[in-house]
Formats: sequence, C-alpha cells, structure tokens
Amino acid sequence: MSGKVWILVQQRDGGGLHPMSGEAIRAGVQLAAMAGTEAEAILLCAEPGSAGEEAAAFGPAAVRVIQHESLGQYTPGAFAGAAAAAAAAESPGWIVLPHSYQSIDYMGRLAHQLEAALVPEVIAFRQDDAGVVWTRPVFAGKLESEVRVRGDGPVVVSVQAGAFPAERSEAGPPVEALAVAGDAIAPDREVLGVEDAAGEQVDLSQAPAIVAVGRGIGGAEHVKEAEELAAALGAELGASRPVIDSGWLPRDRQIGSSGQTVSPKLYVAAGISGAIQHLVGMKGSRCVVAINKDASAPIFGVAQYGIVGDLHEILPAMTEAVKQAKA
Ligand SMILES: Cc1cc2nc3c(=O)[nH]c(=O)nc-3n(C[C@H](O)[C@H](O)[C@H](O)COP(=O)(O)OP(=O)(O)OC[C@H]3O[C@@H](n4cnc5c(N)ncnc54)[C@H](O)[C@@H]3O)c2cc1C
Repeated sequence: MSGKVWILVQQRDGGGLHPMSGEAIRAGVQLAAMAGTEAEAILLCAEPGSAGEEAAAFGPAAVRVIQHESLGQYTPGAFAGAAAAAAAAESPGWIVLPHSYQSIDYMGRLAHQLEAALVPEVIAFRQDDAGVVWTRPVFAGKLESEVRVRGDGPVVVSVQAGAFPAERSEAGPPVEALAVAGDAIAPDREVLGVEDAAGEQVDLSQAPAIVAVGRGIGGAEHVKEAEELAAALGAELGASRPVIDSGWLPRDRQIGSSGQTVSPKLYVAAGISGAIQHLVGMKGSRCVVAINKDASAPIFGVAQYGIVGDLHEILPAMTEAVKQAKA
C-alpha cells in the first residue's frame, strides 16, 4: 500500500475539535510512521473555528480544511461526498476516523464510494511481511480478531475510543485549505432540526475521572459513598449494568457494551466484578483502581491498583484521604 494516511477529524458543536479526533490523529501518525509515509488531518466544516489549530497540536504533517456551507450541518451525503471527492483526487492509502457516532454513520458509505476496504473499531495494528494487521474486538469485546485487508486499494479504518492516547506534540503545521468541487458536497437530506433524544444525558466519554459502582455497592442508599468520593476527586459517577437495572442510578451512567465507552485518566471500580461486558466499556482507562472483597475478581486483571476489602470502609477512607490531600 502506498499513499498518505488521512485522518478525518470531527468538530464539536461549538467549533473546537472533538476529543476522539486527537486519538485518531495519534493513531494516524503512528500508522504513517510504520508505513513510511505522512499523516494529514482533514477537517470537514463550514467554519473551522479552533478545530484546525487543535488538530495541528497532535502532530500530523499537515492540517487541511475542506470548507463548505453544506458541511455546517452534518449529513452523511455531504460528508461522505466531500471526503470521497478529495480522496479520489489524491489517493490516500488509508483513511482513519474516530469511532464516533458521526463516523459510524458515514464511513460505510465513504468506503463504498471509494471501493475501499472498511475496518471498523480498530484497537491496535502492526505490520508484518504481508502488510498491516489490524486488531479489533468481536462478540462485544469477548474476543479480539486480527484482520488483514486483501488487495491493495485504499483502507478506511475507525479507531476505538481509548485505544490510542491523544498525546500532544511540540509543534504543529499551519492549517491550509483543501479544495473540493462544490457539487460533490451534496446534502442528501434536509435536516429540519436536531433534538437531544437523551435529554440531560451525561457524556461519560469525555470525563477525565470516573468513580463507578457495581452490584457490590449493595443498594441505592449506599451510592452516596461513591458520590462523595467522586465529588472529592472532581469525577463523574458511573455504574455497571445491575446498578442501572436495579434503578439505583439512571441509565446514562451505565458503562459497558450496552452502555457508554469511556477512557478517563482515572477509573475507580467499586464492587464491580469485571465481566467482559463491563470491561469492554472501560478498558481504555489510563489508571484503574479496583475495590473488591473478592481477591480473585477479574477486575483486578485490568487494574493498576487493587484494594481487596469492603468498599463501605474503603470508599469513605479514600474520600477522607483525598479531602485531606487537597486541604
Ligand atoms: C448482552 C449483555 C450486555 C451487557 N451489557 C453490560 C454493560 O453495558 N455494562 C455492564 O456493566 N454489564 C453489562 N452486562 C452484564 C454483565 O454480564 C455483568 O452481569 C455485570 O457487568 C456485572 O455487574 P457487577 O460487576 O456490578 O456485578 P457482579 O458481577 O454481581 O459483581 C459484584 C462484585 O462486587 C463485589 N462485592 C460485593 N460486596 C462488596 C463489598 N462490600 N465490598 C467490595 N466488593 C464487594 C463482589 O465480590 C463482586 O465481585 C451485559 C450482559 C449482557 C448479557
């Protein structure tokens, strides 16, 4: 495979860079270094805002902006059309996207338009004699599969949250324009309005620290023990599924294969056994502190720090220690 690595970065509603884009750029930069080519961040937007400069800070060789009024409101037709037209003109070897809801919505269409292979939800990659080998979870994260793309056409890849840390580099390139013919950017629908279906839903994917509770918390009346630690740490509250199913916390706090995927710097797991459906949602966490009375609980397998004991004693003690350290 020859050609550059393009990373299609995503803008937040406010104009800044969506945090998962930093991770995608780092993945793209690593891929480019491995393949002996360059990584370029490509921003599709109506107004770049600060997203271009923010993308540059993650170390791509270039940041290029496809700017068009029809890219202000996301539609799969306009985004796939713009990216496909630009890619058809320059033939990047790989197109990397963050595995976000927006990318999931249009990357299949983009791959189809480019007659490219599609490898979603990549968590790692390596090179062997026959090319790039991609690792991706299957069966809700129970297994990891390694795949290689046949042929030598372009490859569209999305990278899972938390798999590639978004480290910033020293200096970034200037932001430049990438021209695409306007008729390629054709919204395929009229968006009449956008409603947040989840109402006040908490976006745990952006939380820098999370205190998560499992069934071991023992009841809604004990959740405040975790809440107090979360407040002391400035962390969000998360939970395993039984806590949600029991009604001890609202559904938007669920982490795991049927909840949110998180990648905080700190993840405190209290009274969580570490079932695979939970692990798949939090194993991108930088530092996991597990509290469990069962020393053989699988959660200790992914924890940097393990505390074997009763969480009703440990959570208040940790809260006190954090408060004292801050005093
Ligand atoms: C299709 C499907 C999707 C699913 N999706 C999700 C998902 O998105 N998220 C999710 O979390 N689960 C999900 N599950 C459920 C998952 O399989 C597990 O059942 C669940 O994660 C277990 O939650 P838990 O660890 O809180 O409870 P348990 O497995 O019951 O573990 C409780 C733990 O608390 C410990 N404990 C008890 N008392 C104390 C104490 N006083 N002090 C310290 N430790 C204590 C116990 O030793 C135990 O390890 C899904 C399952 C299926 C089939």
